Amino acid sequence: MRVLKFGGTSVGTPAALETVLAIIGDSATEGPVTVVVSALGGVTDQLLAAIEDARSGGEKWTTIIDGIERRHRDAHARFLDEAARAATGTELAERLGAVRERLRGVSLLGECSPRLSDAIVSCGEYLSTGLLTAALLHRGRRAWRIDPATLIRTDDRHGDAVVDRPATERRIRAVIGDPGEGEITVTGGFIGAAPDGAVTTLGRGGSDYSAALIGAALAAERVEIWTDVDGVYTADPGWVAEARPLAAISYDEAERLAQLGAKVLHPRTMLPLAERRIPIAIRNTLRPAAPGTVVDERGGEGRGRIRAISAIQHLVEARLEYGAHRAASRLQRRFFDLLDRIELPLLTVQQSPGESGLRLLTGREHAAALETAVRKEFGDDGDDVRLTVSPHTLAVVAAIGAGADGRAVADLTRTLSRHRIESHTLTVGSGTPHPALVVAQDDVRRAVQVLHALSLGERTTVNLLLAGPTGTVGTALLARLPATIAWLGERGIDLRIVAAINSRRMFLDEAGLSPATVAEALAERGKAADWERMTGWLEGGSAVHYLLVDTTASKTVARRYLPLLERGVGVVTANKIANTMDTIFYHRLRQAALGSGAPFHYETNVAAATPVIAAVRNLRLSGDRLRRIEGLLSGTLAYVFARLQEGVPFSTAVREARDRGLTEPHPGDDLSGLDVARKLLILAREAGWELDLNRIAVTGLTPGGVDGGADPETFLTALETIDGMWAARVAEARERGEVWTYLAVFDGRRATVGPVAVPADHPAARVSGTDNVVVLHSERFSAAPYAIQGPGAGPELTAAGVLADVVEAVRDLTDLVALPNGRLLNATTDTDSDHDDTIPACGNG
Ligand code: ADP
Ligand code: ASP
Ligand code: MG
Repeated sequence: MRVLKFGGTSVGTPAALETVLAIIGDSATEGPVTVVVSALGGVTDQLLAAIEDARSGGEKWTTIIDGIERRHRDAHARFLDEAARAATGTELAERLGAVRERLRGVSLLGECSPRLSDAIVSCGEYLSTGLLTAALLHRGRRAWRIDPATLIRTDDRHGDAVVDRPATERRIRAVIGDPGEGEITVTGGFIGAAPDGAVTTLGRGGSDYSAALIGAALAAERVEIWTDVDGVYTADPGWVAEARPLAAISYDEAERLAQLGAKVLHPRTMLPLAERRIPIAIRNTLRPAAPGTVVDERGGEGRGRIRAISAIQHLVEARLEYGAHRAASRLQRRFFDLLDRIELPLLTVQQSPGESGLRLLTGREHAAALETAVRKEFGDDGDDVRLTVSPHTLAVVAAIGAGADGRAVADLTRTLSRHRIESHTLTVGSGTPHPALVVAQDDVRRAVQVLHALSLGERTTVNLLLAGPTGTVGTALLARLPATIAWLGERGIDLRIVAAINSRRMFLDEAGLSPATVAEALAERGKAADWERMTGWLEGGSAVHYLLVDTTASKTVARRYLPLLERGVGVVTANKIANTMDTIFYHRLRQAALGSGAPFHYETNVAAATPVIAAVRNLRLSGDRLRRIEGLLSGTLAYVFARLQEGVPFSTAVREARDRGLTEPHPGDDLSGLDVARKLLILAREAGWELDLNRIAVTGLTPGGVDGGADPETFLTALETIDGMWAARVAEARERGEVWTYLAVFDGRRATVGPVAVPADHPAARVSGTDNVVVLHSERFSAAPYAIQGPGAGPELTAAGVLADVVEAVRDLTDLVALPNGRLLNATTDTDSDHDDTIPACGNG
């Protein structure tokens, strides 16, 4: 004998019901089958809503019942012939007629007893049983139907009745007995009968329990729970995209999981079956080919580890305080008796540490009843006994599995706090106490996602938000991304582009876009760029790791770093704006990153992919102190000054640089020196100095009288007026053994940016092409300064540097040990300085 239970979603649509008929048919060819069926999906909720509506004087309940009637009639029309329809149609009309009658009564009285509520709510299962039996008969199966109230014996706690197991088992054996080959017994789940014969219900989701009771009584070979997911998952698949079905879990684990919030099984399902070692198979009606989950004694692989994460929502904490009362223990006993009497569903009760009182967690919806009962019971004791209910709604997150011991839970708490989720530990349940974490209701979804990623994620997903993917650096980045995605993929990390935004449009896609389709998606399916919407979308997302990659030069984007870093979103940027805003903002960015643990990387702010910022940071972190920084920090100006040295006129050299695509769209922006000043500022701040942009003395190369705002062509022509001056300067310097260059210098006090003549052996005098050079004078390197030279411009190199930062950030986010240290992707960087790439949009020139 097999017991097959079909949940509401399995019989909710005609297509699903069709599959159910096939599954039952197949099973029946292998032996006798008992089918337990829930109400059609959503019907129980609708009946409860109708009761509530009628009780509070509403008028919607009639429409609700009409809707239920229509749904069943449609199913009858589809699955039954005329003769069968007549019988089931009569039953439908009678049952719903009775429900309407009762609801009218509820509406008149303004109240509904639990007993009456059960009479109304149980209608859903009666109707689905009628439908399914008739459909099976119509298909020529040998099906017969049993009223579940004749099988399941309960007490009279309506709404959550307690089953009299011995009496129930006797009834089930007597009524169903030992059916013959191919015989199908159909009954409704969720329903029982009180000693006085009134219909009771077994609590929400109780059909699973009905199936277990029948399976246990008949010593079934197996109980199959057919639902709408592929089995028991490592977390609710609706919340955690990476959750996966477990092949097998133990009765204990399944019970814990159900008790601690996983809706897939009713918590009482396991006990009757565990006692008789009857396995439970959880299967997907919508995908019958999926293997599903087996619940049995062994529980499969992964024992001793955390196996799943679950959550119970919408709780409140109530504290009962009775001070240092003489009769404290008597008061406590009275309180427990009271809890028993009002049948309050409790998650835990604990002695408040160091106080004389009790703390308990219960559903928000029970708070009022508890307050009323306590007032009634202890009213006379006046001030001695006080009940306070927390104003905040809470939730409990639990890790299931033998591995969820105290130490593991301490790890989980730390992980949550790294993601800025406050939690405290709690012991839930009797027997083996089970550690769990209490969090704010608003944090619960993210808490489950974070804990799942940490303790169960086989692969980690890092989601990229690309700002400026259609600019020059952005385009180069997209071209290189597939290699990085593949490389990280081999190391267990799925790097996905989920959002793209430029100054006009944005595109959001939880499923992820391939790099090749980003530009097209933005252009063809993008919406108006809207950072508010983008941020809101991120917060509602189900992923744990997000990384903003900024290849714009936009202040609007830079201003977003702070709130994003605060929320734990990492930032990788080639954009210099954020790091050159005022000192307060600069420090707030770093505090935000530190606080949330989010990575913040910007190596390409200075000298593209050449690791200058890392060098300065490392000197500082290793206890060395910088005394002076000197740098040729513009690839464009490096080129111009090299050409001057070769006798080319100044204006011609600038024109050449423009023609090779080395300058900003307007060459005046390179000659102003502002971009160089920004880079100096970033280096100085990295070295630990307090500096602001307005304290840097900048001497530009645009002569007085030349209009920097003029169009590029006019501007270049106007530059010819200083060709003579530069030719003379270069010649004079050569006499002295010196070379002109464009240097940024900071010595801890003065910061200057401008043209200077330096000795011919100065590192800046010897660079070739568009190379940048940075010279670091530190305490440790006092005898001979430390120089770093490398290409400082070009979208390809900047994109390579950005990718190296992305890999670094992925390491930070995922605590990957698999990734070796260091800036990995530089090894594959194209170091050919003769490239003729255009200057990137973010101005790394
Ligand atoms: P049925 O109507 O078949 O009884 P339920 O809605 O009661 O279905 O239970 C199945 C649902 O349980 C799934 O759709 C899923 O959203 C939810 N669920 C919560 N936690 C888990 C989990 N750990 N594994 C599988 N499903 C879960
Ligand atoms: N129909 C009931 C409910 O929705 C019982 C069940 O589905 O298991 O709670
Ligand atoms: Mg269910």
